[in-house]
Amino acid sequence: MSIKLNRRTFIQTLGAAAAVGAIGTPYLAFGATKKVVVVGGGTAGATAAKYLRLADESIEVTLIEPNKDYYTCYLSNEVLGGNREMDSIKFGYEGLKKRGIKVVHDYVTGIDAKAKKVTTKGGESFSFDRCIVAPGVSMRYDTLEGYDEKAAETITHAWKAGPQTVTLRKQLTDMKDGGTFVLVAPPNPFRCPPGPYERASQIADYFKREKPKSKIIILDAKPKFSKQGLFTQGWEKFYGYGTDNSMIEWRPGPDATAQKLDAKTLTVTNEFDDIKADVLNIIPAQHAGTIAKTAGLTNDKGWCPIALDTFESTIHKNVHIIGDAAIAKGMPKSGYAANSEAKVCAAAVAAALNGTEMGTPSYVNTCYSVIGKDWGISVASVHKLAKDKSKIIKVSGGLTPMDASAEAHKREVGYAHSWMKNITDDIFG
Ligand SMILES: Cc1cc2nc3c(=O)[nH]c(=O)nc-3n(C[C@H](O)[C@H](O)[C@H](O)COP(=O)(O)OP(=O)(O)OC[C@H]3O[C@@H](n4cnc5c(N)ncnc54)[C@H](O)[C@@H]3O)c2cc1C
Repeated sequence: MSIKLNRRTFIQTLGAAAAVGAIGTPYLAFGATKKVVVVGGGTAGATAAKYLRLADESIEVTLIEPNKDYYTCYLSNEVLGGNREMDSIKFGYEGLKKRGIKVVHDYVTGIDAKAKKVTTKGGESFSFDRCIVAPGVSMRYDTLEGYDEKAAETITHAWKAGPQTVTLRKQLTDMKDGGTFVLVAPPNPFRCPPGPYERASQIADYFKREKPKSKIIILDAKPKFSKQGLFTQGWEKFYGYGTDNSMIEWRPGPDATAQKLDAKTLTVTNEFDDIKADVLNIIPAQHAGTIAKTAGLTNDKGWCPIALDTFESTIHKNVHIIGDAAIAKGMPKSGYAANSEAKVCAAAVAAALNGTEMGTPSYVNTCYSVIGKDWGISVASVHKLAKDKSKIIKVSGGLTPMDASAEAHKREVGYAHSWMKNITDDIFG
């Protein structure tokens, strides 16, 4: 058994994202190997696997993920806007393997919390002392008449980056100038609250360059959205928002959102209208990744209740849920939040396996959106656990000021791109 990191260096590695105060002393008993199985090698799962190994190299960490490559959703909207290549959002698992993590490419079909066993589609079975479940979200196909998994092959959601991102980009490049792109935004709660509006901005940026007669219509179940003031300010500046010639039209409210789809004619119907699209992007309502439901980890709304300090399921002991699937009250469903939650969870699991006390967690989130050429905006926040542990509360934070200079907006674009580099190095490196 070799232990390279002591308590102090591990806490330094956790950095600001999870300032956990007392991880405890390294495990020194020569008993059975401690085993952790991580389900899902996305942002949350891959981070947790890596930080568990950093916490205690004697823990045997198995990461189960069906895909050989992970495409980040973050900055996938820039791919849709023609401002980035798919390859730049693609990451493999070599870095994690080098850290001694056993990476298995398979799909988890069962998690038996009582028997402490995970089973896979490939017929394998893995025992665990603790299991960390990070399956992200699954789409709900029961909320829009006429929309189902089959229809989503051509009428994409592209809310999981990968083949659908490529399909949607191709549909946009094939679209005639003067065409209409319709985006159906999801109801709360959903992955990446500013994402649909960043997507509209990136596609508007592309249309402005290549197809200036085209229009974007957003049909939105919600009356308001994240960073709305900053988005609309950017839309006014770049896309004529609020004028008769606006490239972007946002139609909010339950009556305005799509209620029926005719997949053959790409027509969605709301309370007032039939809206025909040339390219249609439906981002449906969401719930925790399917395996969470199969494993009995979800509540009646389809999300996973957890203890906010350890991320342990309040339904099944020894199983932890992190990332978008978890109800991390007070944290958004974002990549940076998932990364931060994963570090807190890794510290909690390492402490539990070593019989030591978990320290005081803190959590962070930052989210950048690039609205137009050299025009970025951001929101950032630092959080701590409420005294009664009932929610995660914001203790400080900031938003791009409404009167920020053009130079400041340009800097935000640079920060967004360097954030991408840093977080993906942190997860996969
Ligand atoms: C367009 C868009 C833009 C975004 N931009 C940003 C941004 O700028 N900043 C930001 O912070 N966040 C952003 N996000 C949000 C961010 O991508 C998610 O919050 C983040 O990926 C959540 O991480 P996760 O690990 O929970 O899920 P994921 O990253 O989706 O990972 C889940 C993994 O689990 C695997 N999996 C699922 N089921 C199983 C199973 N049964 N067995 C094994 N593996 C399984 C999947 O294959 C996947 O790899 C954006 C999202 C979108 C859609």
